[in-house]
Amino acid sequence: MTYIDAAMRGIKIDSELFTQVEQGRLKEIIRELLIISSCPGEIWKGAPCRPAAGGVGLCTIAQSCDDCWEMDQEGVS
Ligand SMILES: [Zn+2]
Repeated sequence: MTYIDAAMRGIKIDSELFTQVEQGRLKEIIRELLIISSCPGEIWKGAPCRPAAGGVGLCTIAQSCDDCWEMDQEGVS
């Protein structure tokens, strides 16, 4: 499972406050924001991370962290 899939799987939205369609939209926005604003290493220890956050490296430090989030989560401590 990729980091982004793992993160999204763990995020639950209150179904009493949002309809099914709204939940889908909200999740899409959260997903985009995670990729644009952060790197998996900022959440998981040992995951690809921007150097400044003291991670293991491997971060592409591109415009966004698409590549990092698409990496397989296997082997994360
Ligand atoms: Zn990254």
